[in-house]
Amino acid sequence: MVDYSEEREPGWSRKVSETWQISESSTRIRLWGRCPKCDCDSVTVVDLTTGVKGPGGAVSPTLDVLVLCSCTSPHPGRPADRSGCGRGGWLTVTLDGAP
Ligand SMILES: [Zn+2]
Ligand SMILES: [Zn+2]
Repeated sequence: MVDYSEEREPGWSRKVSETWQISESSTRIRLWGRCPKCDCDSVTVVDLTTGVKGPGGAVSPTLDVLVLCSCTSPHPGRPADRSGCGRGGWLTVTLDGAP
């Protein structure tokens, strides 16, 4: 069992980018897969209707997404208001649904 720890895990983002699924709609991006650290299922949903569009409504072709482990398994030491094992990292997602 992995202890809860809010730390950057070396290679975490790379493994996520290699193994996770991404589905994209006009309003949100959903990323899901197994956390490379604790091997639990985790899902990250990004709402594209807030804070992504630039001046004039242009949509950036790439988006930096903070992906945090959000599994529901118990990890020792986790605060009651948190989920996951605490690991996470930034992922650059290329949007192909830009109008
Ligand atoms: Zn977990
Ligand atoms: Zn995890």
